[in-house]
Amino acid sequence: MRLTANEVFPKGNRRFKSSRLRVTEFRIAIVGAGPAGYFAAQALQNAQTEDLKFAVDMIEKLPTPWGLVRSGVAPDHPKIKTVSKVFEKIATTEGFQLFCNVELDKDISLQELQEMYDAVVIATGSSRGKKLGIPGENLPGSISAAEFVPWYNAHPDYTGVEVNLDCEEAVVIGAGNVAMDVARMLALEPKELDPTDTAQHALEKFHHSKVRKVHVCGRRGPEHAAFTSPELRELPKLEHTDVHIDQHEILAAKARTEAQGEVPKDVKSNLEAMLAIAEADKKNHDRSMYFHFLATPLEIKGNGRVEEVVFGINQVEGNKVVATGEQFSIKCGLVVSAIGYEALEIKGLEYESGRVKNTDGRITGTNMYVVGWAKRGPSGVIGTNKSDSTDVMQLLIQDLGSPKPPTELQAKLATKGVVRISQGDWERINAAEVAAGEPHSKPRIKFVKREEMLGIK
Ligand code: NAP
Repeated sequence: MRLTANEVFPKGNRRFKSSRLRVTEFRIAIVGAGPAGYFAAQALQNAQTEDLKFAVDMIEKLPTPWGLVRSGVAPDHPKIKTVSKVFEKIATTEGFQLFCNVELDKDISLQELQEMYDAVVIATGSSRGKKLGIPGENLPGSISAAEFVPWYNAHPDYTGVEVNLDCEEAVVIGAGNVAMDVARMLALEPKELDPTDTAQHALEKFHHSKVRKVHVCGRRGPEHAAFTSPELRELPKLEHTDVHIDQHEILAAKARTEAQGEVPKDVKSNLEAMLAIAEADKKNHDRSMYFHFLATPLEIKGNGRVEEVVFGINQVEGNKVVATGEQFSIKCGLVVSAIGYEALEIKGLEYESGRVKNTDGRITGTNMYVVGWAKRGPSGVIGTNKSDSTDVMQLLIQDLGSPKPPTELQAKLATKGVVRISQGDWERINAAEVAAGEPHSKPRIKFVKREEMLGIK
């Protein structure tokens, strides 16, 4: 919804009269250049009127923007990444400035931002993988999707992640879309990744991978899985990988849900997609993916490195999933846990349940707001952030008082010797990556080293 100046400054609280138009400009800092941050900037841009303007400074610790669209979305899902065109449109709209390679706490503090800006929007996501909390979790060969995903996506801080692909079998723990991305990346014929923007170091490793069987393990039933059906429906179309789901298990889940009354649309669609996978012809490929449900990981075993995962078998009783007391195990050399994320703490903010403490996005008693996964936890697809960020920006606009005297962030950073990557610099980096990809029919070849990116500037 577009707010008018009258709605933003209700009668009696307006600081300028419409008879003689004076433009009031508020300066907003957005920390984090991912989808939630860009959609917050867009909401502010859309709320502008002739007499109300927003100058938006977006601050990002990496030398590149786009957040999870660059370092999270699976390389074999290029269509999802086309949302970056929207981000670039926002970034090239008057009043917007990009400050990449600027790190909170190191280069500028939250307190400084609060003093300099009329409002500060925290859009820093949640990048730390949740822990399973089971014995053996820290053995070599056991990693989190929060490390594996940025590793294959060329995030500069994750190039050194030890990913053991020198084993026949891998286990992915979790039944959400991240688990699905991870499993596909492990089970795909690597040639299929050649025309993608998978990090070169990861691509090379995938080409030498000995992994042939990938097990995806969910602790509850198929009817409780967090996968979404478009992602499930892709699986029978994989050209070099057989995907196995036990048909009886899906039929049992279907019967259980139908016995409870009307089956929610997404559950119905998921179960149909799983049934289609179960019934699809298997081609005897040497690469395969297996789904296991009602399997709680109890322990990761191994002598100095991962060798086996022990699971407790569960069953559904009414609305509950309960342990049967029985167990099974899978021998493997790699375990990737994809069980959700939590926000990394920023000095000066309070946290609860892995996210920034907030009320509808307001950080009480401050001029700060929070959007995206840092606000609501790691849920929803990229588009979810659009409505969410818009709602929070409406509150921000309602709360605004008088604009503060402007202070230039660029000047402040310069005195500290910070090398900022501006929108123009990023466009040069972007163009260089795209140009590097062209001869190889790839959308881009990503830089992985900060120095390389700063060298293009
Ligand atoms: P998610 O959808 O919340 O799934 C997390 C999974 O981990 C659930 O199956 C959960 O099971 C399981 N889990 C949690 N704690 C566990 C534990 N201790 N032991 C075993 N299993 C455990 O999270 P996500 O996969 O990280 O995805 C995050 C968001 O990004 C989601 O909204 C997702 O749809 C979105 N996403 C979308 C795409 C896409 O559109 N293609 C791709 C990637 C991610 P319970 O349900 O039993 O708790």
